Amino acid sequence: MRIDSLISARWVIPVEPEGVVLDHHAVAIRNGQILEVLPTADALNRYQPGTHTDLPQHALIPGLVNAHTHAAMALLRGVADDMPMMDWLHKHIWPLESRWVGESFVHDGTELAIAEMLRGGITCFNDMYFFPQVTARLALQCGMRASVGMILVDFPSAGGSGPDDYLSQGLALHDELRHQNLIKTLFAPHAPYSVSDGPLSRVRVLAAELERPIHMHVHETADEVEQGRASHGMRPLQRLDQLELLGPGFIGVHMTQLTDSEIELYARSGAHVVHCPESNLKLASGFCPVARLLDAGINVALGTDGAASNNDLDMLGEMRTAALLAKGLAGDARAVPAPVALRMATLAGARALGLESEIGSLVAGKSADITAIDLGRLENLPLFDPISDIVYAVGRQQVSDVWVAGRRLLKNRELTTLDQSAIVAKACAWRERLAATATEA
Ligand SMILES: [Zn+2]
Repeated sequence: MRIDSLISARWVIPVEPEGVVLDHHAVAIRNGQILEVLPTADALNRYQPGTHTDLPQHALIPGLVNAHTHAAMALLRGVADDMPMMDWLHKHIWPLESRWVGESFVHDGTELAIAEMLRGGITCFNDMYFFPQVTARLALQCGMRASVGMILVDFPSAGGSGPDDYLSQGLALHDELRHQNLIKTLFAPHAPYSVSDGPLSRVRVLAAELERPIHMHVHETADEVEQGRASHGMRPLQRLDQLELLGPGFIGVHMTQLTDSEIELYARSGAHVVHCPESNLKLASGFCPVARLLDAGINVALGTDGAASNNDLDMLGEMRTAALLAKGLAGDARAVPAPVALRMATLAGARALGLESEIGSLVAGKSADITAIDLGRLENLPLFDPISDIVYAVGRQQVSDVWVAGRRLLKNRELTTLDQSAIVAKACAWRERLAATATEA
């Protein structure tokens, strides 16, 4: 049988079933989809591939899903570090954003972020930022998969005059993208403290009508919870529950402050959590109780958050941090074992975004979103268990190739749909502009 392509590798780690490592297997691809995962010897007998890529010392995993980021903020990487979150936001990030954020900032920042993410094995990102139409068109252009947030905040910005304007722009984007396979929209009210009840109620109605998820920062810090209690007489999560926002289409990001009854409530609702361990650590926001959430049956995905608070968009690093932090926090080395960490970085992200039937694991019928990692290096030897090495011992420089919907976007570490030197030049030009403003501040 003729097929478009065959990728054979030393190992294939499908993620479904969890913990399985297939030796000398191959992925057969037709029309951008996985036709079959099978032993390489059988594949070579059965199929006539248009192209055959053989990766003799590599593992294939499902493309990593960065379930929470602000891609354009790649341009703010390292501009302000080592300070409390509210100082960081009010004195540095928001002033820089109000001075510079526009279509070209979002374009150049997102392009830099997509290049970084592809080179780190990420095939899908869930974005929340201003000018989502710019992000969506750029992702489409270079073949990256994305869930693009229809941003919503109470305050005006260069991207919109207020809630009504943000929502109507978001809905126009949703219409524009309606028939796209790679790019999906979802609602992205920023946080309980930045969006009031009226607009949140509209989001609930629209999300139900259009069957789109809601992506929101929730309980990032103890301060946020206290402020919420002071201004609304209740904790933010309780307010979201009263507004009937919690449900299987709700994605709460951070969730570092949770009581036992809130965990129960959240589990009952079927809502998802996106854990961003490195951003939480860097801003000293608190600790998401991942092991308790998993025990309660909650789907926990992973995200990098923006590069301004991380400072990289490295999901392999995030996966390792999540596994280590969960053990430390739970006081139990069995918490978040390597196969669970890998699931959180792939299938759990797909599930949170409502894309579980399309991506997140290497099984027949899903899209061929695949990441190849070179495990043939000295630093990985003697290599008893590829999943353990991927979670605890590899660096993202070992990502060699990436496919999204069967299209090879990274080939031997070279980007095939983006101009790397142009991206570098633009980022350097932005450094001059931003550094001048940062000094003024
Ligand atoms: Zn964030």
